[in-house]
Amino acid sequence: MSINIAIDGPAGAGKSTIAKAAAKALGYIYVDTGALYRSVAYYVMLRGKDVNNRSAVEILLQDIVPELKYIDGEQHVFVNGEDVTGKIRTPEVSMATSVVSAIPRVRDFLFNLQQKIAVENNVIMDGRDIGTVVLPNADLKIFLTASPEARAERRYKELSQKGNAPAYEQVLSDIIKRDREDSTRKIAPLKQAEDAVLLDTTDMTLEEATETIIGMIAKVRK
Ligand code: C5P
Repeated sequence: MSINIAIDGPAGAGKSTIAKAAAKALGYIYVDTGALYRSVAYYVMLRGKDVNNRSAVEILLQDIVPELKYIDGEQHVFVNGEDVTGKIRTPEVSMATSVVSAIPRVRDFLFNLQQKIAVENNVIMDGRDIGTVVLPNADLKIFLTASPEARAERRYKELSQKGNAPAYEQVLSDIIKRDREDSTRKIAPLKQAEDAVLLDTTDMTLEEATETIIGMIAKVRK
């Protein structure tokens, strides 16, 4: 039986950085489910369709083939054969992703792929509904959060390093808007599972948070 660790939380809480580092340290596969939702939004935009047009998005699902591949230990996301790993990280794709991920058929479409990976591998999977919907029987569930300001600061630094950061205020307002959309949608909203451990990283470095999580995972493996 594979070991499954679920990490959920709002945008910018450090989920991917922490999950990636912990997975590397423990030899698990890191699965960034946000990247799958992002790849759907990216493809809808690529085809010139409006993400708010639900039926257009649903029709396009028939054409979309998302895949996760691991190259030199790093997750790469492919859509219809194109490696979109870098292209799905723009602020425009982030906002569009929040819209498409509220569509039930989009969630159904990605559900089996996520579950299959978790059945076949020891995984640390991060997202919004992993502990509540995708892996309700996960060996450990963590809900990672931080204040909106701390999260916006981290996201701003990350985007600045890539050289395409909007103003900090814009990053903060995007984060607040995305949190609201993700937590108030009808299907699979962002929320802490009842049996998840809450970890607030506002006053922690991401290294400290990673160490804490590695310690928690070490306990469930015993
Ligand atoms: O984690 P990341 O910021 O890349 O996620 C992008 C968006 O994808 C989120 O804002 C959310 O709308 C959606 N998402 C989701 N369920 C997941 C992972 C991501 O709805 N499990």
